[in-house]
Amino acid sequence: MAEAAAPPLGSAGSLVTITVSPALSNFKIIPKDAEEEADTNMPKDMKAALLVLYNVDASKGERCKTVLDAYLQLLAAGPSGNNRISVGQAILCWNCGHVAIPANIDEMGEAPPEAIRKAMPPYAQCASCNEREQSNWLCFTQPDGETIVPWIQKLGGV
Ligand SMILES: [Zn+2]
Repeated sequence: MAEAAAPPLGSAGSLVTITVSPALSNFKIIPKDAEEEADTNMPKDMKAALLVLYNVDASKGERCKTVLDAYLQLLAAGPSGNNRISVGQAILCWNCGHVAIPANIDEMGEAPPEAIRKAMPPYAQCASCNEREQSNWLCFTQPDGETIVPWIQKLGGV
């Protein structure tokens, strides 16, 4: 069931209403460093991040929401035998609003995001705009808050 979020102010100054899945609260944003961890303005989950993106630039918010909705639909339907998919851990790019497995995932190794964060650089690179320093790893969990759900995307991005 979807719920309506508080209407953020669009980049053109107009009010927009967006409907977001409650599941977005289960996408935790992993702080890049101790400074981000201590920053009370840093969104802790994708629901909060989406509102920030919409307020900064509605097109970034819309892009992010489109990608996340596609992921949730793919997850709900299950990948069909006709879909070529990539499975891994995703990042949120604050520069363009894209969410995907990083373009430089091969540089990152196989470690879980928490371990990768402590080993940065290299920083995760956005698969869309190639930005490296304005991204955060995402950790999507089941409602129990502990069971991690991998990111699934159609090959070549969502
Ligand atoms: Zn990007």
